[in-house]
Amino acid sequence: MLSVSDILRLLDKIPQWKALGELPGRMAALEARLAALESNGNPGGNPDPCPACNAPLAFKGERPDPVMGAVGIKERSFACTACGYQTQRQWTASDGYI
Ligand SMILES: [Zn+2]
Repeated sequence: MLSVSDILRLLDKIPQWKALGELPGRMAALEARLAALESNGNPGGNPDPCPACNAPLAFKGERPDPVMGAVGIKERSFACTACGYQTQRQWTASDGYI
């Protein structure tokens, strides 16, 4: 009869099983890279810094602009990384922040 440790030893010989064990670490690394990209407001470049304290703004989200969304303008929300000031910027794929 096989014990649990025997089964685990057999599973370790299967390459796909080993790859499954690496997934949590790879997932965390990818999430960190995604968060870094989003915190810069990318794609589309960085917006101007915080008007209150001049610190970088962190990207929080995007939606169609309430007035100009029909023509492709997005409204991006940001929060200051230092003082928490919140602001929105209009953004287009062709012109960046407008
Ligand atoms: Zn600020």
